[in-house]
Amino acid sequence: MADINLSRITKSFGDYRAVNQVSLDIADGEFVALLGPSGCGKTTLLRLLAGFEEPDGGVISLGGQVVADPQSNIMVTPEMRNLGIVFQSYALWPHMSVARNVGYPLEVRGLGRAERDHKIKAALDTVALGPYADRSPTELSGGQRQRVALARCLVMEPRAVLLDEPLANLDVHLRETMQQAFLDFHRRTGATMIYVTHDQAEAMAMADRIAVMDKGHIRQMAAPETLYREPADLMVAGFVGAGAVLPISNVSITDDRTCSVRLGDTDVAARICPNFVRNRAAAHAGQAGLCLRPEDVWVDDAGALRGSVEDCVYLGGRFRLSVRIGQDRDHVLPVYANRRARIGENVGLKVSDGWVFDRMQG
Ligand code: ADP
Ligand code: MG
Repeated sequence: MADINLSRITKSFGDYRAVNQVSLDIADGEFVALLGPSGCGKTTLLRLLAGFEEPDGGVISLGGQVVADPQSNIMVTPEMRNLGIVFQSYALWPHMSVARNVGYPLEVRGLGRAERDHKIKAALDTVALGPYADRSPTELSGGQRQRVALARCLVMEPRAVLLDEPLANLDVHLRETMQQAFLDFHRRTGATMIYVTHDQAEAMAMADRIAVMDKGHIRQMAAPETLYREPADLMVAGFVGAGAVLPISNVSITDDRTCSVRLGDTDVAARICPNFVRNRAAAHAGQAGLCLRPEDVWVDDAGALRGSVEDCVYLGGRFRLSVRIGQDRDHVLPVYANRRARIGENVGLKVSDGWVFDRMQG
């Protein structure tokens, strides 16, 4: 297994920049999710890593070895990179047994029978499919077939495992089971894993760190809780987790970490992005945003911030409301409450926390 480094990787198709100046450092044994909307360049980035595409510029290294660097004419073939890849659509051969499907790459490499059998057994045991070795793939469920595809990638003892939306074709229940299977696999093997998904909940549940991608760029790379609590910009704030982002212009910076924001007729205290403190001009350029997650705002009859209830849903234990606030009533906040509220009711809100960043665009 190996660490993975990408430095300023760019890839265009015709005039279109699918991957734009992407730099990523992934540690040996890390589980990283690549998260972003459809078409943002996730698959292209994986294909560049795997060696199916050649970058236009930038350097890719695996375990300290440069495997792609167009400036120096270095382009190591996919076979020589030895990365395991599992795609969304996994082709298994229906006329071959599960074991033969898994062992096929070893046959192609010319390994002897005994060695093959040994490695096949180990790979199938890893994905908990040992007892299914002699079955036909047609007898397996979707999740089991996906695990066969994973075993077929593991049998090559790859330096890292790349997974491209491996659960996209499975139903919700199976997805959760398989997420757990991938996590168990990661804990057992300590493999470096890059997991592509457009599903933020899946990325948050699984990854050590998440790289949020948009239009060919990495917007932010951080631990799930950092992305959630401290999004770098509007796109990340909106893509990762529920909540609202309010454009704000009145920010009083208290110190390096905190500020006070005028909201309606009240001031609320919020944490502030260090970038913002360094670049105060952004506030005046109308680039400041206040990110409020649902758990930051509670209905509190003494709360000075007022709003009208648009929706009320019981979650078990607490209620989640949509509350319209602001002079022009142009913002709807998802908030929590300990009691049911009527639609149209005027309620007070208490804001316990918030996060201010300085990039509403770009
Ligand atoms: P994602 O996996 O995030 O959905 P992709 O990496 O597949 O996104 O695609 C990113 C962009 O690059 C898309 O606009 C897609 O149409 C384009 N693209 C990807 N592969 C090719 C290709 N071989 N030729 C031309 N355009 C491509
Ligand atoms: Mg894709």
